[in-house]
Amino acid sequence: MTHDAQPTASHFVNGAYLEDTAGAPIPVIYPATGAVIATVHAATPAVIEAALAGAVAAQAEWAQRSGTERGRVLRRAADIIRARNRELSRLETLDTGKPLQETLVADATSGADALEYFGGMAATLTGQHIPLGADWAYTIREPLGVCVGIGAWNYPTQIACWKGAPALACGNAMVFKPSEVTPLCALKIAEILVEAGAPAGLFNVVQGAGTVGGALVADPRVAKVSLTGSVPTGRRVYAAAAEGMKHVTMELGGKSPLLIFDDADLDDAVGGAILGNFYSTGQVCSNGTRVFVQKGIKEAFLARLTARLAGARMGDPLDEATNIGPMASAAQRDIVRGYIEKGIAEGARLVAGGGLPEGPGFWVEPTVFADVTDAMTIAREEIFGPVMCVLDFEDEEEAIARANATEYGLSAGVFTRDISRAHRVVARLQAGTCFVNSYNDAPVEVPFGGVKMSGVGRENAAAAIAHYSQLKSVYVRMGRVEAPF
Ligand code: NDP
Repeated sequence: MTHDAQPTASHFVNGAYLEDTAGAPIPVIYPATGAVIATVHAATPAVIEAALAGAVAAQAEWAQRSGTERGRVLRRAADIIRARNRELSRLETLDTGKPLQETLVADATSGADALEYFGGMAATLTGQHIPLGADWAYTIREPLGVCVGIGAWNYPTQIACWKGAPALACGNAMVFKPSEVTPLCALKIAEILVEAGAPAGLFNVVQGAGTVGGALVADPRVAKVSLTGSVPTGRRVYAAAAEGMKHVTMELGGKSPLLIFDDADLDDAVGGAILGNFYSTGQVCSNGTRVFVQKGIKEAFLARLTARLAGARMGDPLDEATNIGPMASAAQRDIVRGYIEKGIAEGARLVAGGGLPEGPGFWVEPTVFADVTDAMTIAREEIFGPVMCVLDFEDEEEAIARANATEYGLSAGVFTRDISRAHRVVARLQAGTCFVNSYNDAPVEVPFGGVKMSGVGRENAAAAIAHYSQLKSVYVRMGRVEAPF
């Protein structure tokens, strides 16, 4: 390990770092240079067993603590994360390649928000009293047990916290498997939770590829699976969870529409399109990658967009002036480059980027295609990179129909100065999260998740509690029992 803040072993199990070099080595590559900065090992069956057994034991103890006590641990963890934001952000940058300018404000801080929010909520989680005339009933909100979290590589710290915080607040334990592309950050969250007072085994991190995730999902001790990943993986994990009738949360991919009407504030709309396509070098599930611009302002929009793109600074992610980093992996860079070639081949007009930066690391220029049609591959498939597709439309009805003509339904945005139109359009968009004159805000207070193929369940907000707890109903008869015989 080359940096002090880096985790000291591959796994975090039963309250401590754990190494088992019998597992397949997974090199951790700094995407900006291609350099190997660490090596972790995939979890062996022994590591998986230790994590699950530890989680079962810790959960029983943790669920006995009051909500106030549980919440205090989570809030302490949030404070520690905030105090160490810079070092955690640096690690996030090394793990993902995202610029420090972003990671300082969007990753550890977002994780801390989740721990603070659900920590505050833990003491308020109660059942209900239901009057039934002379009799009555009540409900008890119980934890599910051991939950498995499986993460993607774009937000490794945030994903670990968005899943861990509500799970732990409700009295569950978690075994978390990060993406093998970004294995480091979740380990620090596990370490910090123990420092904050979490019992050993409550939040475990085990490394590995899909097979390790698959072993966790299949284990009968696991009550719930929360996945952030692609639709194909979501289908597989959902099906595997169904075998054991397990609860699931599926946060999957998207091809979200961003509708820009001709009365929109042009600079705000361009800003929204930039945030919704190039933040994290486009590796954001909720990105508004199909930018529908009303015909009358299309050329003005493209001119303003390309002018602002000229100010993008691509380079060393550890330089705080940089705002465009590399892709997280060589494989993802190749996928994105393939889509750019397809866009050109299918006749889209390349108006910015598209070049192939030389040198080490996994770079893709911010790229904009105009004159994209609905049938083109780049307008239909999730690219998960810095590639914006600009399509044009005549009227509202057409824009809504085309925006909804996708199997996905994660997010959608509308830019207009007409408030009636904004809400009328939003009401008809098939998406789990919509933005009016904004894009990609994700505060913990607001439920986040998708419809259609983009997923099931919601993360964040009070809505997440329903997905990490279950109700026990208790009927109480106050009088005599009247049986027919
Ligand atoms: P993948 O779907 O490839 O992988 C997601 C996670 O699932 C990884 O940890 C992966 O392991 C694991 N996995 C793969 N196969 C299985 C299996 N059979 N059983 C259990 N676990 C398995 O997604 P990416 O990591 O490539 O992430 C990109 C995708 O994530 C994009 O499609 C994006 O839209 C989506 N995403 C969705 C978000 C949302 O909240 N809706 C947020 C961020 C991303 P490994 O990769 O290590 O082999």
